[in-house]
Amino acid sequence: MKLSVWTYEGPPHVGAMRVATGMTGLHYVLHAPQGDTYADLLFTMIERRDHRPPVTYTTFQARDLGADTADLFTAAAKAAYARFKPQAMIVGASCTAELIQDDPGGLAAAMDIPVPVIPLELPSYQRKENFGADETFFQITRALARPCDRTARPSVNLIGPTALGFRHRDDITELTGLLMDMGVAVNVCAPMGACPADITRLGAAHANVLMYPETGEAACRWMERELGQPFTKTVPIGVGATRDFVAELAGLLGMPAHLDESRLRLPWYSRSVDSTYLTGKRVFIFGDGTHVAAAARIARDEMGFDVAGVGCYNREMARPIRALAKDYGVEALISDDYLEVEERIESLAPEMILGTQMERHIGKRLGIPCAVISAPVHVQDFPARYSPQMGIEGANVIFDTWVHPLVMGLEEHLLHMFREDFEFHDAAGASHHGGKAVARSAEGDAAADGGSMPPEAAPAAEGPDTGTDVLVWLAEAERELKKIPFFVRGKARRNTESFAAQKGLREISVDTLYEAKAHYAR
Ligand code: SF4
Repeated sequence: MKLSVWTYEGPPHVGAMRVATGMTGLHYVLHAPQGDTYADLLFTMIERRDHRPPVTYTTFQARDLGADTADLFTAAAKAAYARFKPQAMIVGASCTAELIQDDPGGLAAAMDIPVPVIPLELPSYQRKENFGADETFFQITRALARPCDRTARPSVNLIGPTALGFRHRDDITELTGLLMDMGVAVNVCAPMGACPADITRLGAAHANVLMYPETGEAACRWMERELGQPFTKTVPIGVGATRDFVAELAGLLGMPAHLDESRLRLPWYSRSVDSTYLTGKRVFIFGDGTHVAAAARIARDEMGFDVAGVGCYNREMARPIRALAKDYGVEALISDDYLEVEERIESLAPEMILGTQMERHIGKRLGIPCAVISAPVHVQDFPARYSPQMGIEGANVIFDTWVHPLVMGLEEHLLHMFREDFEFHDAAGASHHGGKAVARSAEGDAAADGGSMPPEAAPAAEGPDTGTDVLVWLAEAERELKKIPFFVRGKARRNTESFAAQKGLREISVDTLYEAKAHYAR
């Protein structure tokens, strides 16, 4: 048992639903208890799809458990075929149905359904949503794809985008345009947008573009083995990665690399003088492995940030993220426990977080700006406007998204210069952070003392004397501390306190503050 309040990923059958919902002409019969239909809302509300997912649930209840739940499944599968007439079906069990062991695959095989029925074995108690999507798409590909003649013109398959994927819709559009510029056609994009008949002709492409390793790698590996199709290893998120991707694909297809950079603005924007204040900003990056790896490269090499920490919640990507962390000289955090993530963020005290919806909450609590780079995401990250992460326009979108939550250069300067001002005081934060723009008050002053953290999270400076080892900040040292800009003050306070504790000091003077500064600067 594990106490969980937030989970980064759903159960694996939600991954299977993401594949089924992304496709057309495919139906999913899911053996599941009454109530599991909640997952429909992910697609109809968060992704704002205008139709129900193609999923039939058996929705068994407590009273059904005394009778034959297998009959329920058989009846549901028959009814689903009769009503929807899909080209193929997938069948499986949710967590609860897994326990009653009705074997949906075996039952469906005995039913004479006149289209391919693909059984899914998704271990709900060991694996999660991304595995569910990857495995489902792999099983569909394995069941339906066959060797076929390659297209006359160079073509690729786009592999991995699913329903409920972070910016998958617009990444497909961006990549399709980029490939067209190279003279490469898209044979099939799958699972998103493909029907089972399209899956049968995957083999006609010359290579596969693996857009999202989390949801498409197993199928790409199988196609490499069985259909002789190489696949790309670079995910084109960021300027450098997009250039590398184009070079890699050109190499696989034996054609010249060509990338139209006329719309690319990120490099100049981040070189322009207004971005100088971005240099060296300490960022913590967390999310799925693919987006984290891409973000780390952009943060360091394209935005001039200092990567203070990286991590991912999907253990399938633990190895590459550990290797990446080593490269960046930081420690990797591989965890799906948001409390651990919160703890790491608190101890690193970054100036910015790049993360998921969960990190947005953590950032809000700690008063640290955050931009979303990865699922899980909420409804606002399925925007109406065009907002890819991949390719040229993706780089432009990323620049704007990441810079937006930061205090702008001039504002940062004003906040520092006029910290006694009624409007530009520390506790007000950036002017566009509505919730933080509180009037200066006694409480506001307390928050200002602890840097950008709310009062209850700030280290107790003059807090209740709970023991003999409580460190006391002398008044003059407190005043000196306030000269440090608020967004790094929390870290300066913590560093000074741990330095004083190491030295066995009980009081912190101005000298201690500067000794600590010198110590950590070494
Ligand atoms: S079967 Fe699984 S997904 Fe459904 S309610 Fe139970 S735990 Fe949640």
